Amino acid sequence: MNKIIESFKKAQIEAFFVETKQDAKEKVIEIIEKRRIALGRAEKEMQISWGGSVTLDETGIRDAVREKYNALNPYAGKTPEEQTRLKRQALLSDVFLMSTNAITENGELVNIDGNGNRLGALICGPDMVIIVVGKNKITKNLAEAHKRVKQIACVKNARRLNRATPCAQNGACGNCYIAGNTICAHTVVTRFSTIPDRIKLILVNEELGY
Ligand code: SF4
Repeated sequence: MNKIIESFKKAQIEAFFVETKQDAKEKVIEIIEKRRIALGRAEKEMQISWGGSVTLDETGIRDAVREKYNALNPYAGKTPEEQTRLKRQALLSDVFLMSTNAITENGELVNIDGNGNRLGALICGPDMVIIVVGKNKITKNLAEAHKRVKQIACVKNARRLNRATPCAQNGACGNCYIAGNTICAHTVVTRFSTIPDRIKLILVNEELGY
C-alpha cells in the first residue's frame, strides 16, 4: 500500500490509506472541512456533487455529505434536459466525489464513462476531486486495469443499470454500439494531475463497489 501511495505522490495526486469504510467516510469529511475552513464558508455554502458510484453508497459517504453540505445530485433531473443541466452544474461544485474503475500500482487511474460527466469533473471540473477506492480495484499495470474494467466493472454496471448489452447478457464485452445502452463511451487514463494535490485518493483496505 505504501508503494502505491508513493506512486500517486509522483503523479501529484495526494493519496491516503485507511482501514475501513467508516475511516474513509471520516477522511472525506476531514478533507472537505479543511477546504471549507480555508475558503471561510459555512457548511451549507459548500456545494458538493458526485459521480455514479456504488462505493460512495456502501461507505455512507453520499448520505453524510447530503446531511452536512449543499449537495447537488446530478442524477435528480426529471427530463433529459434537466439531467444534462445538473451534470454541467456539478462541474462547478466546490468538491466532486467519485470512485474509480481501477488503479494501478504505478499510480494511474483507469475509468470508463457513458455520459462523461464523472470524467469531465475528474479532468477539468471542481477545484477538488476526492476519489474513494477499495483494495479490490488495485491492479498491477494498465493492461490488467483495462481488463478489470471491461470484465468486472462494466459487466456489473451494465447489469445494475439494466442495459441491453452483450456484457450484461453474457458477462463478456461484445464491443457494442447500442444507442441508449452502451456504457463505454469514454476511456480515460489519468497518470498525472497538473494541479498538485487537486485530486485526493482514499485507498480503503476493504472490498468496495466494482
Ligand atoms: S462495449 Fe458494450 S459490451 Fe463491451 S463492456 Fe462496454 S457496454 Fe459492455
